[in-house]
Amino acid sequence: MHRRIAILGSTGSIGTTALRVIDGLNGLPKDKSPRFEVVALSGHSNIKLLAEQVRQYRPKYVAVSDADCVEEFRRQVEGLDVKILAGPEGLTKIAELEQVDTVLAAVVGVAGLQAVLAAVRKGKRVAIANKEPLVMAGQLITTAAKKYGAELLPVDSEHSAIFQSLSAGRHDEVAKIILTTSGGPFRKANPAGIPDATIEQVLAHPVWRMGPKITVDSATMMNKALEIIEARWLFDVPAEKIEVLVHPESIVHSMVEYVDGSVIAQLGYPDMSLPIQYALTYPARVPGSAKKLDLSRLKTLTFEKPNPEVFPAIEMGFEAAKKGGTAAAVFNAANEAAVEQFLAGNIKFGNIVELVRRCLDNCNAKTDASLEELLEADAWAKKEVTECLKNQRTGSKKQRTQNTQRKQLHG
Ligand code: NAD
Ligand code: MG
Repeated sequence: MHRRIAILGSTGSIGTTALRVIDGLNGLPKDKSPRFEVVALSGHSNIKLLAEQVRQYRPKYVAVSDADCVEEFRRQVEGLDVKILAGPEGLTKIAELEQVDTVLAAVVGVAGLQAVLAAVRKGKRVAIANKEPLVMAGQLITTAAKKYGAELLPVDSEHSAIFQSLSAGRHDEVAKIILTTSGGPFRKANPAGIPDATIEQVLAHPVWRMGPKITVDSATMMNKALEIIEARWLFDVPAEKIEVLVHPESIVHSMVEYVDGSVIAQLGYPDMSLPIQYALTYPARVPGSAKKLDLSRLKTLTFEKPNPEVFPAIEMGFEAAKKGGTAAAVFNAANEAAVEQFLAGNIKFGNIVELVRRCLDNCNAKTDASLEELLEADAWAKKEVTECLKNQRTGSKKQRTQNTQRKQLHG
């Protein structure tokens, strides 16, 4: 069997791991795995790596989503037979190419939304790591997938585990879905100190090596909050049937409890190559590079309920999942904007969750929202975060001026 793949976000953590997985699959005997032809790749601004990938994989198409980087990229791949598509539209174009049957969505953030929708509307297999579009527009994406016969296969490790565990029973036999989380870098930290955590402390995830945005999300626990909404749409389960458990060893990637009390889980060492590979070869299971699990060496697996004082984001995630519609879009967008500000050094770590809370409280929540309404909600929340910060800055500037005046007055 021959599969023709487009990787959206090939220069990222998931994208580069996926290319390694494809190398492994293409190196297996022909009867053991489908062959993967890399038809298209995309990157944003890491042009050097993208050009290296083009030289190695010889895709027919490349999308450079940051239009400012296109000229430099063109110079770097001069002489190679590759069609270059510029800007966000380029990403959408490679997602709907006729020559492509499988799209791996591995862009970070809502920037991947239009491309995911385009691939789904063309009825392709969409292996989806890019969770933000599902959080913002899960209802639209899953409805379109049914309508156009697209296969939406989860890459997020928890959702891959749930997907695998769901084959043990019928949908109406599911009692609940148990999402696990490592607890991130601050599981055992003193709650009082967490809001002042530095970028370095936040980026030091104890288990996973990932892109910067999801690493920050894992520290705030926003990642788990987003994953609650992701699960709600991917598996068509209400938020009330989803539970979160902290599991620091990160061996049980998630579980499904059935009405008879049986709990089905998927286990493995933390390694994204496994869920990526499964989404690409599904329904086949083929030999892969992931290290085989040795439970006798691990001995203990522990689970605990998340402490809401340390991780208020989880409750917010449930709230946004129940409200759905524009509330989920606002929740996601406010987080994206706040994380960007944190990584730029403009706000404290603790401000991320505060800003998201504020946007969620102030938004006009509407269920069954159209794509236009969701895009509006996304833009509103991103603007709201900027406005809050502007007001805070003028507020603290005013405060500083008043303090100086007071000092001058009182000598
Ligand atoms: P990353 O930052 O390492 O890579 C992001 C990719 O998206 C890069 O190729 C980058 O060039 C591209 N990109 C960035 N901004 C863009 C824009 N505006 N338009 C188009 N492309 C853009 O991120 P990652 O860790 O690989 O995560 C990718 C997605 O997968 C995220 O949604 C994340 O939540 C999800 N995910 C990641 C992991 C992981 O282990 N890294 C696990 C589960 C889910
Ligand atoms: Mg995950």
